[in-house]
Amino acid sequence: MNVETVDCVVVGAGVVGLAVARALAMAGREVIVLEAAEGIGTETSSRNSEVVHAGIYYPRGGNMARFCVAGRRALYRYCDEHGVAYRNCGKLIVATSDAETETLAGIKARAEANGVEGLRFLTAAEATALEPNLRCTGALLSPTTGVVDSHGFMVALQGDAEAGGAMIAFHSPVEHGRVVEAGVELDVGGAEPMTLRARLVVNCAGLHAPALARKIDGGRYDALPTAYFAKGNYFSLAGRSPFSRLIYPVPVPGGLGVHITVDLGGQARFGPDVEWIDTIDYAVDPARSDKFYAAIRKYWPDLKDGAIMPGYSGIRPKIVPPGAPAQDFTFHGRETHGIAGLIHLFGIESPGLTASLAIADHVRAMAGNA
Ligand SMILES: Cc1cc2nc3c(=O)[nH]c(=O)nc-3n(C[C@H](O)[C@H](O)[C@H](O)COP(=O)(O)OP(=O)(O)OC[C@H]3O[C@@H](n4cnc5c(N)ncnc54)[C@H](O)[C@@H]3O)c2cc1C
Repeated sequence: MNVETVDCVVVGAGVVGLAVARALAMAGREVIVLEAAEGIGTETSSRNSEVVHAGIYYPRGGNMARFCVAGRRALYRYCDEHGVAYRNCGKLIVATSDAETETLAGIKARAEANGVEGLRFLTAAEATALEPNLRCTGALLSPTTGVVDSHGFMVALQGDAEAGGAMIAFHSPVEHGRVVEAGVELDVGGAEPMTLRARLVVNCAGLHAPALARKIDGGRYDALPTAYFAKGNYFSLAGRSPFSRLIYPVPVPGGLGVHITVDLGGQARFGPDVEWIDTIDYAVDPARSDKFYAAIRKYWPDLKDGAIMPGYSGIRPKIVPPGAPAQDFTFHGRETHGIAGLIHLFGIESPGLTASLAIADHVRAMAGNA
């Protein structure tokens, strides 16, 4: 079989792969994106809350904290410049007990250390003046949080990447690879199998990134993470949203708690919860609604029986098992594995959509050293 050569290959056309392809193409590099599916963003990038996160919860100085704040600022700018729809609606983190009210202070301090702007404590009366359907003992207002049309954003990234000369090959699953002298060779399956040799390969395969890394011969090393899947189920509400801002409880281990987001069409959705699973399965079990009712009624007591219905789900690409300390966005490049021209992205869960432009800048800088 002929071996085609190319400067850069990005594996995966989710929001992160597209942002990376755009950044590399705009830096003048030749880029091919290999995507197993039939279109852009068919996995986690279309199965999330579409929230533009402020950068509140993440440990100071970590990749999530830095890239969320920088990525959020870049994302709003990008949406303005490219006509991508978003709504900077703000969010309330609501406490429903005195103990939770006390934890808000810690959340605010951490957020401010991360550079999050404009946070403000609200008394219960101030919070209900903003959101009359809410019941709480106090709240933290985050004015920079918003929601974005994630598909519109990905289409714009694809357009930029292609305008910069990048090419996206759909139905092109990367099946194996090997490290060679001048880079990495990839065997691509699908209807038209081929082998591509690239000076730089960036693994943006999301849930499949650890498995793909293991399939690259000569690229194996001790530190490859194991993939764990933490599913997040959503339920939707019939009728109009009772809230105009996003409403989040105080976070729970493994996720941000069952929150209410309002999409750009004004539709409320609840979730995601946390369900650890072994294999990818997006079906939402209607029986999980019991826990949703209980969680939501803590801050929205008027939720009626039968008002919520199973929606969709997404799966967090975890690289730590249940109960382990929280993971960070993880990048393996030459400094990790000693191989020039191979960059893996692991554990790009929330806030990966918000952070995507900053992640792409980071990968472009790594690629300069690869
Ligand atoms: C429940 C949930 C809620 C979330 N909510 C938010 C939120 O509100 N705000 C926020 O900022 N972030 C959120 N996130 C995080 C965000 O959705 C992800 O960080 C982001 O979508 C990851 O994008 P990605 O491109 O890395 O992965 P993906 O979108 O999964 O893309 C990976 C792509 O790689 C392709 N691929 C895989 N293997 C191969 C292969 N071998 N060959 C070729 N192609 C391959 C796949 O087909 C896929 O298209 C949430 C995540 C989850 C799970």
